[in-house]
Amino acid sequence: MRPVIGVLALQGDFQEHLTALARLGAQGREVRLPEDFEGLSGLIIPGGESTTIGRLIERFGLREPIVAFARSGRPIWGTCAGMIVLAREVDPDTRARTQHLLGLLDIVVRRNAFGPQIESFETELEIPAIGSEPVRAVFIRAPVVAEIGPAVEPLARLPDGTVVAVRQSNLIGTAFHPELTGDDRFHAWFCRLAGEHAP
Ligand code: GLN
Repeated sequence: MRPVIGVLALQGDFQEHLTALARLGAQGREVRLPEDFEGLSGLIIPGGESTTIGRLIERFGLREPIVAFARSGRPIWGTCAGMIVLAREVDPDTRARTQHLLGLLDIVVRRNAFGPQIESFETELEIPAIGSEPVRAVFIRAPVVAEIGPAVEPLARLPDGTVVAVRQSNLIGTAFHPELTGDDRFHAWFCRLAGEHAP
């Protein structure tokens, strides 16, 4: 059976993830309610506004199902705001007054790390886990990973060494947006991880 990949569809660019999954022939599902987790093999938390997504996760009672999903070993991938929501901590200088975090990924993130002058930019990144060809990465009011715990592996860095993609076992975070480039290798890789958990 084809694995079903859930995309948290509370706010942000979930549609772009669903479109990328469809391009790959993968089966995507919008996730808004606890029952939407039934039968999923992987979950994507999209980019958007981390304070809003965090608030809506609480309001819709999704914290527990997401934490249980992570504990089950199935993969979860957060892009940009999604990575922030997965994180253990936000650098106090950049944390919103109300910033609900899932605390699953053992990282400290700095929000809007490139400042107002450079709100968004694109660059090529080496991501050996994905393939030998560099990946085009789009950063939009992006966070960076300021600290990583011992179980966290950096997957990509900017030329100055700043970590912008991480993996901790079944949890993945990227500061950038692979769903916006038309280069679907990151999604294909995630679908392969999820496929190992297909029912
Ligand atoms: N700056 C946003 C936040 O802190 C993230 C931006 C994005 O997801 N593109 O939530």
